[in-house]
Parts: sequence; C-alpha cells; structure tokens
Amino acid sequence: MNNMQTIIPVSQIECQVKSWKTYLKEAISDPLVLLNQLNLSPEQMDFNLDLSNPFATRVPQPFVDKMRRNDPLDPLLLQVIAQSQENDDIQGYIHDPLQEVNLQPQGLLHKYQGRVLLILASACAINCRYCFRRHYPYQDKVATGKLLKQAFDHIANDTSITEVILSGGDPLIVSDTYLDDLIQQLEQIPQLKRLRIHTRLPIAIPQRITLKLCQILQKSRLHISMVLHINHPNEIDNLLKKQLNLLTQANVTLLNQSVLLKSINDDINTLCQLSENLFSAGVLPYYIHLLDKVAGAAHFDINENTAKQLINDLRKRLPGYLVPRLAKEEASKDSKTIII
Ligand SMILES: *Cc1c(COP(=O)(O)O)cnc(C)c1O
Ligand code: SF4
Repeated sequence: MNNMQTIIPVSQIECQVKSWKTYLKEAISDPLVLLNQLNLSPEQMDFNLDLSNPFATRVPQPFVDKMRRNDPLDPLLLQVIAQSQENDDIQGYIHDPLQEVNLQPQGLLHKYQGRVLLILASACAINCRYCFRRHYPYQDKVATGKLLKQAFDHIANDTSITEVILSGGDPLIVSDTYLDDLIQQLEQIPQLKRLRIHTRLPIAIPQRITLKLCQILQKSRLHISMVLHINHPNEIDNLLKKQLNLLTQANVTLLNQSVLLKSINDDINTLCQLSENLFSAGVLPYYIHLLDKVAGAAHFDINENTAKQLINDLRKRLPGYLVPRLAKEEASKDSKTIII
C-alpha cells in the first residue's frame, strides 16, 4: 500500500493542485531566469537583453513550458524577452498609437456602433513586448467602483448597444466570483445580446479555464464568445486544447486574433499551421492585425504589402474559414480597417 502511494511523482501532484493564481503570482520576472530555464545564455541571443525595461518581464511557467529548450530563436521566447532595441527612438512609433488615453467615459471605449469595450483590469498574465498598451496608463482607466457604475449607466442608457466586450489589460485576471457578479449585472440590461471576452490569459495559463468559469459562462442568457490571442502554433498544446474544449462544451464561441510579427509568424507555413492548430482546438481565426506602431516594438513590424502577400498565399492553401481577416487599427475610425 505504502509502495503504491509513493509511485505518484511529486511534481504531478503539485501540477494538479496548483491554481492559476499561483502560476500568476510565480510568473518569471527576470529574463536571466527565463533563459536559464531554457538552457540558454545571454551571449547566445541575436540581440542584447534589456534587463531594466520599465515594461516588466512577466512570463508564467505554463507558457515557458511551451518553449523549445536550447533555441535562441524560439518564437514564444522572442515574444516576451526584452531586447535593447526597444529603447531605440524610431520615427512613427509613438506611445499611444490609438489615441485612447483621453477617451471618455473612462473605463469604457465606445468607438464602434453597437458594441462597447469595458476595461476590466489593467494587468495581464504575460507581458508581450509588441503590445500597443505597453505605455498606456491604465490604472486610472479601469472600470471599478464609481467608473464601473458610470460605465453601466452609459450602456443602459444607449439602446443601440447590443454587445459588451470585456478587455483590459486582460479581463480574465479578475476572479470568477467578480466575473459572475459582473455578468449578472450586465444581464439586467435588456438590449444586451452578446458578451465577448478578449483574452490571452488561457494561452499563458491554461488552468485559468476553471470549471467554475465554464459554469458561469454557460448559465448566462447572453451569447458568449471568447476571442483568444494566439500568435504561433506552438502556443496550442494539449493542455490548452483540453481547456478550450471545456469552453466549447459550455457553448462559448471561440475565435482568435493574432498580430503579424516579424521572425515569429511572418511566414506562410507558420500561418498555415496556426490556422490548422486553431481549428483542431475548436477555434476559428478571426483577425490578424498589423502591428500598432507603438514605441519599442518597431523590430516586430511587417509592412502592409508583405502582409497582404502572406494572406493571399494563405488563401490559396486553406479553406476560406481558416483565413483570418488582415486588419489594422486606425485612431478615430468607426471600425477596424480591413486590408484584405
Ligand atoms: C476591436 C475593437 C472592437 C471590436 O471590433 P470588432 O470588429 O467587432 O471585433 C470594439 N471596440 C474597440 C474600441 C475595438 O478596438
Ligand atoms: S494586452 Fe494582450 S498583447 Fe498586451 S501584454 Fe496583455 S496579453 Fe500581451
């Protein structure tokens, strides 16, 4: 009997009991620790590291587990490791490319007809180096307390709004209980039909898809969709697939948006594989975005013509429903700009 009990490896037990919040808390914040785990040294990298960037390093362990060891060009690693190039001042790359900083009312972005974006949280589980919100002074933009009340009033008073989009930061960083309360309040607004959650958290920490979360989403009268943010096929492992399957079973419509990123997903085979892997996980490609021209991210940028060519090539290789729309975000337009 005793013998049998000791057969279960300790690591496996730990794996079963570790909650997403623990992974969040224990996220790696030191680039050297990250490289060390991957059996890499700073000298092996193609670039100089930036060890003191104000946009902190943040990479949870389950995301690190999807990286290849001994590979300085790993496409997941390159999305999260700070390079000294981020400090280069490059013309045209600015702090607030979408001019969102002064938008009113705070906590809410109501730029497009019929749908509003509710800023639920300022933080993310993972810090992506290309992120257009890297300089965004979020803390005072988050819809909590009085701002949340104002946001609800704004939505309730505008009968044209039929969809609320939870955004951030990453909206899934709030607790299940908080989400449950919030969704129940939204359900009281009669004109609302749909709720959408834009998140990268399940990619960083698949354990975030808790059974409780699935139950909360399943019981809602609102039609719920989740727009995941996956850039590379290697981000989809068996654990993520399993967790996404729970969402599908809870009647959540799963879509994906990516950002086209140099040296990460800017080739036809990678994009093809991404669409294939998404579909096999029950997710349909929705958008692929051109990079927002944010200061510090110029080294990820792909020009529009190259991007168009890639998507054209993708369309020759895949069924139409596996080809994402190539889009870019332009300040003060009334929708995203679809390029192709
Ligand atoms: C992207 C975005 C939306 C959603 O646009 P869809 O085309 O419906 O996906 C809504 N509001 C804002 C401010 C956005 O940036
Ligand atoms: S908002 Fe999305 S892209 Fe930006 S850091 Fe958070 S998870 Fe990454």
